[in-house]
Amino acid sequence: PRLQVVHLGDLLKRIETDFAPMAREKNLALRVVPSSLAVKSDPNLLRRLVQNLVSNAVKYTPEGKVLVGVRRKGGSASIQVLDSGIGIPASKFRIVFKEFARLDEGARTAPGLGLGLSIVDRISRVLNHPVDLQSSPGKGTTFKVRVPIDIEASRRKAKATIEKAPAGEPLQGLR
Ligand code: ATP
Ligand code: MG
Repeated sequence: PRLQVVHLGDLLKRIETDFAPMAREKNLALRVVPSSLAVKSDPNLLRRLVQNLVSNAVKYTPEGKVLVGVRRKGGSASIQVLDSGIGIPASKFRIVFKEFARLDEGARTAPGLGLGLSIVDRISRVLNHPVDLQSSPGKGTTFKVRVPIDIEASRRKAKATIEKAPAGEPLQGLR
């Protein structure tokens, strides 16, 4: 992989565009919170990773919401994909990352090959971006991906955002 500057705001905007039709069709609220953070990653691999998580969140959520956002955790950005879907029992947290693994409840809910999370796992290892899974059956699921922040690129982006903002308008996404 080629590590370079990746602007999370741009990446997440693309994800939102890609999945908005599917979410609308299911009557799900898909909310993607803007971010001005820049990280050190591989843009194509990171996008594929997040796409697979959002695809699952939308597929395995019969009703409610899917929320995608970024939190700053020290020197890292934590990309978070939350859903209010069917959930994954803790006893299955390891198995779902294996190739072709599907849970009965998941297979009943939506079609798939059981490959998305195995790709997430591979990319996570190759890029050294740890993935964390929290879930409770019937309530929902949260996946978090930890990615190193590019501080200089984030500052430049935040500064450009300030300079572009019309005077008097409240600034968003800079914290
Ligand atoms: P594919 O991604 O190849 O289209 P898939 O979605 O079944 O198929 P994975 O993305 O690898 O495969 O997910 C494996 C299984 O883990 C799913 O079949 C489902 O049972 C469960 N799962 C994954 N994400 C979620 C989620 N957000 N909520 C509930 N179950 C999930
Ligand atoms: Mg999937």
